[in-house]
Amino acid sequence: MTTTPIERQDLVRMIACEDPDERKKLYDSAYDIKLNQVGKLVYFRGIIEFSNICTKNCYYCGIRRENTAFNRFSMTKDEILECAQLAHEYHYGSIVLQAGERNDPDFVDFVTDVVHRIKLISNNDLGITLSLGEQTQETYRRWFEAGAHRYLIRIETSNQNLYRSLHPEDHDFDRRLACINILRGIGYQVGTGVMIGLPGQTVEDLADDILFFRNLDVDMIGMGPYIVHHDTPMAVEATDFNPARQLRLGLNMIAATRIALKDVNIAATTALQALDPRGRELGLKAGANIIMPNITHTRYRSSYQLYENKPCLDENAGLCRACLSHRITGIGEEIGYGKWGDSPHFHKRNQSNK
Ligand code: SAM
Ligand code: SF4
Repeated sequence: MTTTPIERQDLVRMIACEDPDERKKLYDSAYDIKLNQVGKLVYFRGIIEFSNICTKNCYYCGIRRENTAFNRFSMTKDEILECAQLAHEYHYGSIVLQAGERNDPDFVDFVTDVVHRIKLISNNDLGITLSLGEQTQETYRRWFEAGAHRYLIRIETSNQNLYRSLHPEDHDFDRRLACINILRGIGYQVGTGVMIGLPGQTVEDLADDILFFRNLDVDMIGMGPYIVHHDTPMAVEATDFNPARQLRLGLNMIAATRIALKDVNIAATTALQALDPRGRELGLKAGANIIMPNITHTRYRSSYQLYENKPCLDENAGLCRACLSHRITGIGEEIGYGKWGDSPHFHKRNQSNK
């Protein structure tokens, strides 16, 4: 297998790979690169999905504005702080605050205060990643100054025609791309990613997604298979949805991204686990090094369904922790408890810019 430089056709070949023996070789090479570039530790980001209220209407997402088939919720500040406290007690090192997109001043103030208080109650121990969509430069700056240091905003697909087909007209690819650059300028460690196996998406598109990540020089990748939600417009197009294919593409993408980008953080996302109970472990074996255990209060989990078959809806954070540590140590990986686990890529780039 070619190692450097990775060309588009190499990526296409890796992503399209179906043969079990060839896939094993692909995952093994990606795993070796992970060990050499980011080490053997798996880092946890306890994810708090604190509100399903969203002003946007993405065609694929179960919590889009126009879906009225479920209850909307917003956790209180105290509830969010309780979850963060638990992450601290569990020595998770970092948390992710994720929600539907809102841009109103009350929401911006709410998040600013929550970030600030999480830093206080954890004595600055907890690293904070935000995943709250497109915001103004001023908002991103306020949240950064309050203590968030990473931001995840998926581009969803780097193919602009496909992007248009996934979103209503008022959702703008260039605006989303601009957000990534603004975040970088402010000083965040920036993550992006795509949905994998979208209707109409080709393996060439996916190869281009990886080249897009490389050109943007991002620090973290959070990508996962697209999974149907039947109360969304896109469900009509996803008639040949094939979970085994989605899983295979998801794992191939992790491996190809590790081989191409080398020292970034790559998450084994929950969508992999929705397709296979061992999905996240398989992701780690294919080159991922980050896991995001759900620490949202159990009572809210069933109302945050971006897609169907979301796992662990009836588990509490303690059960998730026990199950995960068992699964991860069971495949011979080690957990980096109590560490932020920043992307080595971010620190190397910053050093070389000094
Ligand atoms: N609202 C913010 C945003 O869109 O950036 C953050 C939360 S949003 C729910 C997080 C991610 O969920 C999106 O970037 C999208 O890639 C993913 N997502 C939404 N619907 C999905 C689906 N049906 N299958 C897989 N991933 C999905
Ligand atoms: Fe809202 Fe994010 Fe879902 Fe789009 S993907 S509808 S912005 S929560």
